Amino acid sequence: MADNKQVIELYPNIFWLKGEETGSHSYLIKGKYKNVLIDSGLDRNYVRLQHNMFEDLGLKVRDIDIIINTHEHFDHIGANRYFQEFGLIAAHRLAANKIVEEDRYVTMYTSGDLNRPSLKVHLWLEDRFRFDLGNYRLEVIHTPGHTSGSICIYEITQKILFTGDTLFAGGTLSYIAESGSFGDYINSINLLETRKIKALYPGHGMVSKTPEEDMKKAILNAKALLRDENEDVEITCFREVS
Ligand SMILES: [Zn+2]
Repeated sequence: MADNKQVIELYPNIFWLKGEETGSHSYLIKGKYKNVLIDSGLDRNYVRLQHNMFEDLGLKVRDIDIIINTHEHFDHIGANRYFQEFGLIAAHRLAANKIVEEDRYVTMYTSGDLNRPSLKVHLWLEDRFRFDLGNYRLEVIHTPGHTSGSICIYEITQKILFTGDTLFAGGTLSYIAESGSFGDYINSINLLETRKIKALYPGHGMVSKTPEEDMKKAILNAKALLRDENEDVEITCFREVS
């Protein structure tokens, strides 16, 4: 498994399409019934994504039936606009509302296209929603924290988790964004800890085969960061009072 490969088959018919620079990774699942792409990545990464899908997997954009966004950030939804005329875009309802209402304070999404086609979300997901692809089954786990609309996707037969920006290898923490919450984040990771998970497939960086350790570290990191934030608040309040 060479590191410089841009497309890696993780399991039969489950592919890791690496993101470029700050863009998120995408994961493609060739289903028996339907093909699913988890996160479309940055808008400017689309040409590469399209090229890799076709060259390595023989798939065109119109072959992707469902695009699942792990959350509402621009670097995960950026290329949705190329897929939305052919496939169904799916996101948690708390991400979907921000995407379709163009809540850019939260999504940070701006289109490079002057015609700016509005982004669509066809499936507004809830916790425990399930996609049955025949050979694989994907379950939505609502994991608010990084953002309010963050989800992880649990593949039931392999017991693997696609985490978006909720959980990274080594427990490295992404920031808590505008619609997010530390309390929600810690609660979400506690919820994930109750699942049997063999591997993590995050939106950025490396994949991980040590989910239990990573989850413990993520909670410790979140608590440490929260303490820092709280201390900052106290200092601010003290200054305001005095
Ligand atoms: Zn994010």
